[in-house]
Amino acid sequence: MSSINKVAVIGAGQMGAGIALVIAIKGYNVILNDISQDFILNGLEKNKQWLNRQVEKNKMTQEEVNDIIARMKGEIDLPTAVQDVDLVIEAIIENMEIKNKTWKIIGSNAPDHAIFGSNTSSLSITEMAKASDRPTEFLGIHFFNPPVIMNIIEFIKGYDTSESTLEKAISFGKSLDMNTVIANESPGFIVNRLLIPQLNEAYYALQEGVATVEDIDIAMKIGLNHPMGPLKLSDFIGLDTILFIAEYLHQELGEKFRPCPLLKKMVKSGKLGVKTGEGFYKY
Ligand code: NAD
Repeated sequence: MSSINKVAVIGAGQMGAGIALVIAIKGYNVILNDISQDFILNGLEKNKQWLNRQVEKNKMTQEEVNDIIARMKGEIDLPTAVQDVDLVIEAIIENMEIKNKTWKIIGSNAPDHAIFGSNTSSLSITEMAKASDRPTEFLGIHFFNPPVIMNIIEFIKGYDTSESTLEKAISFGKSLDMNTVIANESPGFIVNRLLIPQLNEAYYALQEGVATVEDIDIAMKIGLNHPMGPLKLSDFIGLDTILFIAEYLHQELGEKFRPCPLLKKMVKSGKLGVKTGEGFYKY
């Protein structure tokens, strides 16, 4: 274990609940916070169901699962949730104004020794660090979806992140048996900066009639040995999420990141992928 024992995860959605699960599996105590009790209970319940499936598959014992469940607790009051933790990981909606408000409260209530990490996919670590009023203790801790399967974390250094904060965070990441990579703050960090243009180019190829949906995916899947093609992957991520990141990269990094018109049209028509039942494919 690292010097971290207790962690608060803020946001109990897709990522927050998944991050809490990974952390609890590795022996840490976790406090899960959200804006409503129902969201917290929903996140904890999903984790419980996932753990129970591991017992059914003989991958974990009931006793192990009971211990993991006992290590995850919900807390609706944000100041209380962070009051005695060593690390706060924020995984709330991708909105800078809401994130900054949340970090201000966290910065006023967490212990002095705590370090802070945002799971943001693209937003500025330095800006959130400033809002928390603990700029040297702040960094990006970017998990991948779903955290319990994707064993890599991108750590992002903000302008003021101290070396000791980075070291503590990386040692924590390694204690989760995760691969770790470090990026300096820049829109999209490493993975989204490289992935989003590739997905965007696949939309252009489709829009220009270069090939069918199926053939674009088969070509990339087999030709590049990817687990799935770019259009199917887009459906899983959610086209609205991709558009949001693409627009941000375009705004910050320039013309070559301009989102493809086809992506914009599909988002306008509500075809967001798996979550709405239709994207490039029907579900
Ligand atoms: P989500 O919509 O599933 O969950 C967000 C949660 O945050 C919701 O439960 C919401 O109620 C809660 N929330 C909103 N405002 C809050 C507040 N003020 N305090 C506490 N909770 C609040 O979203 P998600 O996919 O879990 O994404 C969360 C973060 O993780 C975002 O920053 C996103 O960019 C990032 N991320 C997402 C993915 C992905 O594939 N979905 C991958 C890596 C990083």
